[in-house]
Amino acid sequence: MSLAVPRSLSPTRVTAFTDCPLAFRLRTIDHLPEPPSPQAVKGTLVHTALERLIWRHEPGSRSRAAAATELDGAWEDLQADPELEKLGLDDDSAEAFRVDAATLVDRYFELEDPDRVRAVGVELLLEADLGPLRLRGIIDRLDLTDDGELVIVDYKTGRAPGARFEHAKLTGVHLYALLCQRVLGKMPVEVRLLHLRDPVSISAAPSDQTIRAQHQRTVAVWHAIERACERADFRPRPSPLCQYCHFQTFCPTFGGAPPEAQPLTLAGPRRVPVVVAPDPDVAPDAVLVPEPAVAPEATPVGGGAPAPVAPAVPSSAVPS
Ligand code: SF4
Repeated sequence: MSLAVPRSLSPTRVTAFTDCPLAFRLRTIDHLPEPPSPQAVKGTLVHTALERLIWRHEPGSRSRAAAATELDGAWEDLQADPELEKLGLDDDSAEAFRVDAATLVDRYFELEDPDRVRAVGVELLLEADLGPLRLRGIIDRLDLTDDGELVIVDYKTGRAPGARFEHAKLTGVHLYALLCQRVLGKMPVEVRLLHLRDPVSISAAPSDQTIRAQHQRTVAVWHAIERACERADFRPRPSPLCQYCHFQTFCPTFGGAPPEAQPLTLAGPRRVPVVVAPDPDVAPDAVLVPEPAVAPEATPVGGGAPAPVAPAVPSSAVPS
């Protein structure tokens, strides 16, 4: 029995396959349900508040009070989100949840001065074809420096990785630099992870070499996924990550057996601004090109500034 090969991958999914092929299969191919994640819902809340702070407020007015107001609004909006309902928080837990989110938003101000931020896009979904694979990822924020250079900023609400895992995390973010280069025609000079919990900022400077290496590695991972699908052979890879894995019941490492799971119907993706890099090997009319989110004349080739891209929905809209 062979399994359906996913049509596209996000940088997070690429890393997920290398972390554990079996967990990748159960999540991405079989779509086995997982319990609601308070961390993911809180991440959505915090991301929304920070995106609104940057996008709705001019430089000079991005204060802690403005951020707190945006968090209140995002919290109100979240009440209608089924993911929050699934957490089943009672009043006290909900208040603790909101207060912790407020702490994370407040800590953002220890990492950068938002009044100095010149964002040209938030929640920006980029897609590019890398040979057989469509790579898609959401960039939390795309900034422009005074020199007309691009900087990718990614908010993280979990703990910063230890020194041992820092390199692996940065490997993933180089894929966002690759996407940026393919779609916008310009390589960012920096990819910055803002870990709000600690708080600590981790930066990487992409280069032609790192981007080329990521391209090759990603295509190699894709071929490994294709082979695994053909043979229906996704092996477990035990690691410290097992303690967070919801699939232990199906994992031979823990005495379980992978189910021949039927794919479940998932809710369709929510709409986000999307920019697609056309595959040069495919005729233009065969390429799906949704409404452009960046005006062609504003594409930052040669140091020009890209047009602002409207904010959209939380990162949870698309697996990342
Ligand atoms: S428990 Fe560990 S080895 Fe098993 S599927 Fe999960 S991550 Fe993979």
